[in-house]
Amino acid sequence: MNIEEIINKKQKGEEINKAEIEYSVMGYVNDEVNDKDMQSLLEAIRDYGMTDKEVIDLTSIMLNSGERIELEFDTVDKHSTGGVGDKTTLILAPLMASLGVNIAKMSGRALGHTGGTIDKLESIDGFSTDMTLKDLIKQVEKIGIAIVGQMGNLCPADKKMYALRDVTDTVKSIPLIASSIMSKKLASGASKIVIDLKVGKGALMKDLEEARELARIIVKIGHLNGKDTICVLTNMNEPLGTSVGNSLEVLESIDVLKGNGSKDLNELVINLGSLMLSLDKNMPIEEAIEYVDNALKDGVGYEKFVEMVKHQHGNINNIPVSDKVLDIKSEKIGYIKSIDALKIGELARNLGAGRVNKEDNIDPKVGFVFHKKIGDKVFAGEKLVSIYYGDKEIKEKEVLKCFEFSDFEVARPRLIYEIIKD
Ligand code: URA
Repeated sequence: MNIEEIINKKQKGEEINKAEIEYSVMGYVNDEVNDKDMQSLLEAIRDYGMTDKEVIDLTSIMLNSGERIELEFDTVDKHSTGGVGDKTTLILAPLMASLGVNIAKMSGRALGHTGGTIDKLESIDGFSTDMTLKDLIKQVEKIGIAIVGQMGNLCPADKKMYALRDVTDTVKSIPLIASSIMSKKLASGASKIVIDLKVGKGALMKDLEEARELARIIVKIGHLNGKDTICVLTNMNEPLGTSVGNSLEVLESIDVLKGNGSKDLNELVINLGSLMLSLDKNMPIEEAIEYVDNALKDGVGYEKFVEMVKHQHGNINNIPVSDKVLDIKSEKIGYIKSIDALKIGELARNLGAGRVNKEDNIDPKVGFVFHKKIGDKVFAGEKLVSIYYGDKEIKEKEVLKCFEFSDFEVARPRLIYEIIKD
């Protein structure tokens, strides 16, 4: 077997078998296949796709490329494919733990224009996301929740391939996304999996048709591995909630947990949370919705959040935001027709909320707070968005350009498109 033959086969749109996938992927992990050849193979996969069998084989090879965590208790994992202003994990994890669902969550850092849960949590003074597996298990057994960064040697194949994909325009490929996400979910030991699959301008999947295809193969891989897996297709055209940026998003999450969330974020939390709860407790969805709704009103999720922060050495009273704030005001009267999530994500990253290069430090204190969302009426001179800035250049005009206005009333966009479970 040799790598050129495998690349050629895929470049002709032919199916490659498990042994050939293993030869390529494990060869790359072990430095026997170089970046250039792996890039050619990834490009061929992006351009010609993969059959279900190939995606399933690729996932299993990536999963078995490293360690696998086996937990002695059931957990439910929620994963987002990446959004702008997506702080749902910060809310759902403690909310679910407060309802008796175990959460042992491994999260990532900011990627491209999308934020990362670990960076957000680290904006809480002292918060540590570094933990051994033993300590993670101990904490979940004690308080039902732990959120940590990637630990151990899970899916080294994904780590290496993802880093290459990020710089070779091969991130956006359904077989590559499905195998990347599912190999990590399966390796991290979750018993049940709920995927928030984002669709729209600010997401990897730009339209419903491609999102449905990604959901179908993700659910198939989950079921073949004996895991209940549900994909929820959700709108990512405008930023989620009212803030974008690390500490700002933590503060917003606290508001939601105290029962004061924005409409869209509350709706998402209730939908995803009730699915997680009904999966874990085998409970009818209507009953689960009632539990989640009440928990939000009672603030029990907030108490759990405080408990988690304390256990992970954070100071809940010290979540600093920048004191340099610039308000962007509307120049006209009308209704907000759209807010470009992708551009907002990129501007937030340029402000320092994310990384342009892998080794960059982020500025946790910067970002945006939105005063208006799609469908809202706005008068000339009214505040649209506040920019919390640090030492990077701010592009006021670029921020204003993210808003589109209409003279006529605009309906609030639908947030939940579809739920795919088989
Ligand atoms: N998230 C992942 O973990 N992998 C991908 O390929 C895309 C999004």
